[in-house]
Amino acid sequence: MTSETKILLSESEMPRNWYNLVPDLPSPPPPVLHPGTLQPVGPDDLAPLFPMALIEQEVTTERYVPIPEEVLDVYRLWRPSPLYRAHRLEKALGTPAKIYYKYEGVSPAGSHKPNTAVPQAFYNAAAGIRRLTTETGAGQWGTALAFAGAQYGLDVEIWQVRASYDQKPYRKIMIETFGGIIHPSPSNLTDAGRKILAEHPDSPGSLGIAISEAVEVAAQHADTNYALGSVLNHVLLHQTIIGEEALLQLAKVGDKPDVIVGCTGGGSNFGGLAFPFLREKLAGTMNPTIRAVEPASCPSLTKGVYAYDFGDTAGMTPLMKMHTLGHDFIPDPIHAGGLRYHGMSPLISHVYELGLMEAVAKTQKECFEAGVTFARTEGIIPAPEPTHALAACIEEALRCKETGEEKVILTALCGHGHLDLPAYGRFLAGDMVDHELSTAAVEAAIAGLPRV
Ligand SMILES: *Cc1c(COP(=O)(O)O)cnc(C)c1O
Repeated sequence: MTSETKILLSESEMPRNWYNLVPDLPSPPPPVLHPGTLQPVGPDDLAPLFPMALIEQEVTTERYVPIPEEVLDVYRLWRPSPLYRAHRLEKALGTPAKIYYKYEGVSPAGSHKPNTAVPQAFYNAAAGIRRLTTETGAGQWGTALAFAGAQYGLDVEIWQVRASYDQKPYRKIMIETFGGIIHPSPSNLTDAGRKILAEHPDSPGSLGIAISEAVEVAAQHADTNYALGSVLNHVLLHQTIIGEEALLQLAKVGDKPDVIVGCTGGGSNFGGLAFPFLREKLAGTMNPTIRAVEPASCPSLTKGVYAYDFGDTAGMTPLMKMHTLGHDFIPDPIHAGGLRYHGMSPLISHVYELGLMEAVAKTQKECFEAGVTFARTEGIIPAPEPTHALAACIEEALRCKETGEEKVILTALCGHGHLDLPAYGRFLAGDMVDHELSTAAVEAAIAGLPRV
């Protein structure tokens, strides 16, 4: 008898804490610095943008943070999410490996983003905030925050990277259906946007520019805060619900992962899946290889430098030590919009520097090939971002076929691709090009890093 296909948890088995990796690391990540004084930022520096509850989570040294009841209530709309065993993919590949994927596409936004959008909206509403601003790339984060805002009665205003705004009109409609307001970025609504448009009227935008616009508006209004969908510690903290559930689910079938792969844009779905397993690895209960997969067009971990840099293009955020391609780097408009970010989560960057994980880069045609193979076997059309993880999964499974190893491979299928079908159309028509950032382009990009 084949083992189960869907490994499910009941609602009562849903974890009630998020996990903070920091106290379990051999050293803490370097502090975030104020760009003017170059001193570590304090809570007061962040208070114009974030509620105190999230600022505390950003710097907490507690190992576990309880998930509020009001957040668990909303999580129950789609959590616990299923863990699937990819029997059909394994068979098609002819691999002795076992492939598991944690499917986050069952959420209201169709991705993992609501795992943090919901608590962020909750803590802001509890602090008396009326409006949230944010950026969005492919539109996943904007959709998630618009949904979360509707749950707690907050207005949500979103700047979407121009390239995605034009390529993916259905995300805009979804955001508006949830009650959000959306602008293409760069826009003429902010100083940051107007400055870019004056120099590049046809700018395709970038996440860094859209962040500058959203931060500018939040900083100018007392009733308005800013919400970030990735990169920061509190975002990765909220996403650990993914890995905590997956740990329980794998335990039900008696498996431990040998390899964990995930796609990295800012690092939140990857960290969310991997950190609870990294806790186990550091405690010696299992020993998985943990591998990040990034696009070859935006290779912050594999080709960027580990340095202090701004989180946004205009240089309005604090300085974070991270793997970066430079804050004014604008990646080629690949279809995986969520992976077009110049930097990497400081916590992931630190874990990478400590040698606790590895990273690879992939070009988009190989990834879409993997996405199509996955769709034809498992029946789910993946978002372009997790096709990067699937390409690495398939690579690992085929390696196992050569060696005969029965490795257990775990990945996060962090979103479905139902609103990314035009990208599949391009791929199927043979109309997709690969983008790979050359070493010379990397050197040019990082030349403008701030001197710290
Ligand atoms: C936003 C997004 C990403 C990239 O963000 P991470 O913080 O790296 O997870 C990847 N996949 C999907 C489906 C997304 O929505």
